[in-house]
Amino acid sequence: MRAVVFRGDGVVEVADAQEPTIEHDGDAIVRVRLAGICGTDLHVVHGDIPMDPGSILGHEAAGVVEAVGADVRSVAPGDRVVASFQVACGACWFCRNGQTGLCDEHRMLGGGPFGGDLHGAQAGFLRVPVADVNLLRIPDEVADEAAVFVGDVLTTGVYAASLAAPGPDDVVAVIGAGPVGACVTRALIADGGRTVVVLDRDAARLEAVASLGVRTVDVGATNPEMALARETDGRGADIVIDAVGSIEAYTSALETVRRGGRIVVAGVYTSQHVELQLGVAWIRGISLVFAGETPVQALWTPTMDRVADGTLDPTPLVSHRLPIADAAEGYDLFGRRIATKVVLDPWA
Ligand SMILES: [Zn+2]
Ligand SMILES: [Zn+2]
Repeated sequence: MRAVVFRGDGVVEVADAQEPTIEHDGDAIVRVRLAGICGTDLHVVHGDIPMDPGSILGHEAAGVVEAVGADVRSVAPGDRVVASFQVACGACWFCRNGQTGLCDEHRMLGGGPFGGDLHGAQAGFLRVPVADVNLLRIPDEVADEAAVFVGDVLTTGVYAASLAAPGPDDVVAVIGAGPVGACVTRALIADGGRTVVVLDRDAARLEAVASLGVRTVDVGATNPEMALARETDGRGADIVIDAVGSIEAYTSALETVRRGGRIVVAGVYTSQHVELQLGVAWIRGISLVFAGETPVQALWTPTMDRVADGTLDPTPLVSHRLPIADAAEGYDLFGRRIATKVVLDPWA
C-alpha cells in the first residue's frame, strides 16, 4: 500500500509501506477511502509533536472495514466507517464517564510516541485498536467527504460550541476561520439564536464563513477589541472561542471577552508560554475553559446524525481532493493556508 511517511525535519514523502494486520482481538483493519490533512499533522511535521522518521502520518480517515479481530462486535467487514482521531480504551473511568479525550490509555492515530506509536491514517489501510470504541458506521446518505470530519474537526466544533454553551442573547466571538473555527461556527449557528462574530486575517476564509450568515472581522484591518466592543455596547463578547491555538489568538481572546465572560480554548497548544496577570483575570471574573482533546466518541453519534439530516454540512470546507501521490503538495498548500481542507485518496 502507499502511505504518507514522515521523513523528519518538515519532510513528508509518499512511499510503499507494509500493510497493517490484526494485532489484538479488538482491532479492525480499515481500507481507507479518504484521509484528511489536519493542523495537528503540521505540528508533527514541523517538530512541535515528536514523531520517529518512517512513521505514517494522519489521523482522519473514512473507509470500509476490511477485517476485524475476534472481539469486535460493532462493525463488520464491508461496513463504511469513520475512525476517531483519538484512540480511547473505552473501559477506564474517564471513558466510562464520556471523557474519552482524557482516557488513561490515551493514544492517537499518527500521533508519534506520545500518541502510542500508532501508524497514521494517510495510507491504503489503517489498523484501529479497540474498534468497537473507535470506529463509527457511516449512514448511506453521508458522503466520505462529510464523514471524515466527524472523526475530528466537525465533532471538535460541536464540542467547543457545547463548552461555550451560549444563551440566546449572547454574542460569541470565534477567533480563527480555519477548519476548526469554521466547524465551531457551523455548530453555533445550527443551534440558532445568538450572534456569532468570526475573526481572522485571511479574506478568503472570512468570506467562506460569512456565507453562513455570521458577521466577520478582518483583524488585519480592524482592532478586534474595538470590533467586539461595537457589537456589544462597549462590553466585549460574552463568550470567546480560541479556534487557532496561538499566543496571538489567546491574547486576543483575553482582550475581546467582557468582564464576567467565558473563554473556551479549543485551539491546540503544545509548548507555548504566556504570562497571565492573575489580578487582572481575577478582577475581571473571567472563566477560562481549556477544551483539551475532544471526547469524539461521546459526541460523534449526534454529530453524524446532524450531518445526515443536513443541519451540519462540513463538505464546503474541502478545497482540495488529491491522489495520495500529491500528498507533499497537499501539506504545502495547507501549511500556506491556500487550502482550507485537503483530503487524500490513497487508491487514486
Ligand atoms: Zn485533526
Ligand atoms: Zn479510557
